[in-house]
Amino acid sequence: MKEFDVAIIGGGPAGLGAAIYSGRAMLKTVLFDKFGTGGQLNSYEKIANYPGFFEDTPTYKLSESLLAHAQRFGTEIIYDEITSISDDGEWKILKGFADSYRVHASIVATGVRYKNLGVEGEERLRGRGVSYCATCDGPFFVGKNIVVVGGGDSALQEAQHLTQFGREVTIIHRRDEFRAYPDLREMVQKHPKIKCLMNSTVQSIEGKDFVEGIIVKNVVTGEVSKMKTDAVFIFVGLQPNTEFLSGYADLDDYGYVKTREDMSTSKKGVFAAGDIRVKDVRQVITAVSDGAIAAQSAWKYMSCRK
Ligand SMILES: Cc1cc2nc3c(=O)[nH]c(=O)nc-3n(C[C@H](O)[C@H](O)[C@H](O)COP(=O)(O)OP(=O)(O)OC[C@H]3O[C@@H](n4cnc5c(N)ncnc54)[C@H](O)[C@@H]3O)c2cc1C
Repeated sequence: MKEFDVAIIGGGPAGLGAAIYSGRAMLKTVLFDKFGTGGQLNSYEKIANYPGFFEDTPTYKLSESLLAHAQRFGTEIIYDEITSISDDGEWKILKGFADSYRVHASIVATGVRYKNLGVEGEERLRGRGVSYCATCDGPFFVGKNIVVVGGGDSALQEAQHLTQFGREVTIIHRRDEFRAYPDLREMVQKHPKIKCLMNSTVQSIEGKDFVEGIIVKNVVTGEVSKMKTDAVFIFVGLQPNTEFLSGYADLDDYGYVKTREDMSTSKKGVFAAGDIRVKDVRQVITAVSDGAIAAQSAWKYMSCRK
């Protein structure tokens, strides 16, 4: 079984931030990712609020720089999905699909994914007009009518992105006001291609082989209507990727990992960083910062044991 000082699970900004600090502290570090590194950076095109990258930088550039930086300090990257962590005396055993690994400390940075809407037609038409990623699937809908469901930052940001492709983008939100930042709210109100349908919920998604329309309910009047559309992009909240930690480390009611200020969890030798933590601000800068703190704490944990 391969052995490491520190295993970082997840190669998004938090995991890569942790890898830079862990590698630089001369710990034998491995980083696992189930897809490829970059995490959510792969799901949008540009970033304007990461310090030092001030000109609407393409996210792939930030992602590539973080990876190169982590590798420069010796982190080994293994593409494997970790499915469980358990204790074996002083060691932690990580089971992946490809192999099992023995490590002294773990930093969990597995991030979040979008929640399902949970309506009829969503599962059946996934990849056939139902999508959770505008960057990935937007180009399939050039000149088409697009619906975006949600009212937070991501929904409005993604709606703006989709206007490059769609003839018209309709945002459907269940409340009478968006939760997003004021600049995004102003943008959607002024955008000539964006329409907003407030106080409304999607009841079902219809179509034989591909999305053809949706059934919408006005939650104030109770009126139900049919709306034609070619695509439904869903951004209705986030779900932490922590299923494999359930019963091992303490999670809150929504599945987020509870951590102390030093990123330690309820389990000795296990730290958490980034969007999977219970916290208020989920952004690249806070994820990278968590990663640095977690790596520093892992280093302290290792030093105390020697
Ligand atoms: C549409 C959109 C727009 C955004 N815009 C901005 C913005 O403008 N500015 C900003 O600062 N932030 C933005 N964010 C948020 C920001 O991208 C996240 O806060 C940040 O990516 C969180 O980093 P993370 O490393 O915690 O998690 P993630 O980026 O989610 O990375 C987690 C990684 O873990 C991997 N993983 C998951 N489970 C396992 C497993 N079991 N085994 C191995 N690997 C696993 C995943 O493949 C993934 O690579 C945006 C997010 C979205 C979705």
